[in-house]
Order: sequence, then structure tokens, then C-alpha cells
Amino acid sequence: MPKLIIKGGRVLDPSQGIDEEIDLCIDKGVIKRLEKDILEPEAEIIDAQGLIVAPGFIDIHAHLREPGQEYKEDIESGCRSAVAGGYTTLVCMPNTEPPIDKPWVARYIESRACSVGLCKVLPAGTITEGRKGKKLADLWALKEAGCVAFTDDGSPLMDSSLMKKALELSAQMEVPIMNHCEDDRLAVGSINEGEVSSLLGLSTRPPEAEDLLNARDCILAYYTGGHVHIQHLTTELGVEIVREFKAKGAKITCEVNPNHLLLTEEEVIGAGANARVNPPLRRKRDREKLIEALADGTIDCVATDHAPHHPSEKGLVDRAMPGMIGLQTALPILLELVREGRISLMRALELLTLKPAQIIGIDRGSLKPGSAADITIFDADRRWTLNEETNLSKSRNTPLWGRELVGRVIYTIKDGRIVYKLH
Ligand SMILES: [Zn+2]
Repeated sequence: MPKLIIKGGRVLDPSQGIDEEIDLCIDKGVIKRLEKDILEPEAEIIDAQGLIVAPGFIDIHAHLREPGQEYKEDIESGCRSAVAGGYTTLVCMPNTEPPIDKPWVARYIESRACSVGLCKVLPAGTITEGRKGKKLADLWALKEAGCVAFTDDGSPLMDSSLMKKALELSAQMEVPIMNHCEDDRLAVGSINEGEVSSLLGLSTRPPEAEDLLNARDCILAYYTGGHVHIQHLTTELGVEIVREFKAKGAKITCEVNPNHLLLTEEEVIGAGANARVNPPLRRKRDREKLIEALADGTIDCVATDHAPHHPSEKGLVDRAMPGMIGLQTALPILLELVREGRISLMRALELLTLKPAQIIGIDRGSLKPGSAADITIFDADRRWTLNEETNLSKSRNTPLWGRELVGRVIYTIKDGRIVYKLH
């Protein structure tokens, strides 16, 4: 592999507080130095003038659907979509068929991702066997097999005694327990409970369903000392719960899905089933609160909850599978908040790089010399549209389909190798 020099870009690295026009030299898959005007006669050059150079993005919540549901997505198509969105590391959710509740499934996924060779894929294991919520999976064995987190995502873990045990283990293992917070007796329908559900006569998933489990998990984290990670936070009250328990010193982190930062419950009127997601799109005031929490640090990171589904699973809203694809649209959504002055560009990048790395405890998300050369180079002003031509996922379920987006990844570099280049 020849040396690679990224020349003339605006380098932003939240881990070092760097925001400077500077060159970056990569050798043998590792970042060697950041300096003005690096000259290396043998090196390959990437001209990054007018572009932003950042650490490779890390998504701690993606559904790659392999094994078992390859008609929606597989590890290869998921990774292609990821690198086109600027991601170099993904944590894949365990609601596969079979689920990631045995070490061999975790190992299978890592070896498949390795042979695809685009993006690092780290599996999350299930908390309970078969994601059934009845008996803990062998978390130690799953950790040994490479799992970096545990979650029954897609389903909440309702049993408080199992959640408590999992968090006690988390404290010993130093691995986060991630929960999809929605009380399954209350969240039985399809969209947020409010004006839109009344107007359309649709079944609901009320905000209190989410707040109850979120509060329970924060309380359990407080008592056990375990690390709870609240997945896809969506409510105004949820932000306050997390803020309160963080202030008490509980080990809590949380993520937001970018779609919840952009869209509200009204979206379902135009986009129908493509606007269906669990937890659902909420009210404008929830969205406002999420953006505030993103800026003030209550929300720790952005995670896409990339959830591909086949068009046949996205018919009528009340019967549709929940979820949206999101690996290629996260960056443009965050850049919109930057343009509106709601968050700084540095904070946006921190939410995509350093923070998610810290949550799962991996040594990535930085451009410090000596770090693995995972780098994303993007044009913050480039206009494009997600359509048949640009979409690299096998699925197309997003309300952003066909909409103009601003901000596009030009290169993605993983361990010093160019794994994506915009043509
Ligand atoms: Zn979920």
C-alpha cells in the first residue's frame, strides 16, 4: 500500500479539537502526521480542497439483516451503503435469524464483514436467549466472540429482574446494555398518540410507553452501577429523565436517530408507511427538545437505526414493518442542523465519531497520529438526491426518498485504504 496524502482539506477532529487547513499523511494503514504542506514524492495524493476531512463515522445501531433476511439487506449491501454515508465502523443489531445469541453467529458476521472488506462490523449480542426476554444469554461467551454491546433491540426487555441482572453483569464486563425502551403493553400500535393518529384513525405508541422503560432503566443503572445505553430517544420527557439520572452519577448514555431530529408525526400523512418507525416520529416540541439535548450533551451520539425492509412490508401504515434506512442520510440531516446554527460542525462530527467510539469502548474515531486511518472526506455543500441511482442499500424505505439533500461523502478511507469514492 503506497503512502497516501490528503492535501488542502479542512481537517476537523473533535478528539484533538483541531479545525485547520492542514495535510494528513497515512502510511501502512495508520495516520502518520498532520502538518501544513506535506511533500512525499512517492505518495498517492487526494486533493481535498474545499472539502472537510474528519474521522470515519461510527454507527452503533444498524440492522444488516444477515443472517436470515437477506432479501432486505445483507452484510455486503449494508456495508456499501455505510461507506457511501461516511461510516467506517458499524455495530450490527442481533435481531437476525438466528439472532446473535450464540458465539458462532457473532463470529460468522465478523468473518463475513472481513471478507467484504469495506467497513468494520462489530456485533451486538442479545441480552436474552432468542430475544425472548425469558433467560439471559451467555453474555461472557458473546463478549469473548467479539460482541461490543448487548441488546434485544426491536423488542424491549420488559422483565425488570433480568434487566437488573444484565446491568450487574455490565458493571463487571464493562460492556453497555442497550435497550429499546417501549413498554410492550402500551406501545402496541403504529404511530405517535396525538392529533395525527386521531385524524387518520391509526393505532398508537404513546410517549409514556417509552418514558416508563427509559426511567426504569435509568433507575436500574443508578442502583447497579451498570452502563445502560438508551437507544433512539424520542420524547421531551425522556430527555429530562436522562439528564436527571446522569446528574445523579448513573452510567447512562443515549443516542438519537437523525430522522427524529428532522421529521415529526405529520410526516406519515404524506409518506405513509415509510414514516413508520419504532419508537415513532413525535411532535414538533419533542423534536425541538432532542435538538437542544444534542447541543447540550444530554444526548451522547447519533445512531442511524438503519432498518431496511422490502417494499411488500411497507404497505398499509398499520400493518407495515417499522423502520427506515438511514446510513446515507445521517450526515446531510446533521449538516442541516449545522446550517441552521443549532449545533456546531465540530459537535456534529463528535456525535458521529468520538462519542460513539467511547460508548462501545473502541480505539477509533480520532485522527491522532498512530490511530487507524479511518477517514471520511465530504463536501458540506454538495446537493444530491437519494434515489435508484444513488441508494446502495437493498431497500428504499425512507421518507427522504427522492428529496434533495445537502452534504455528500466524497471519499471514505478504512485502515488507510479507499473503500468508497464518489464517481
Ligand atoms: Zn429499536
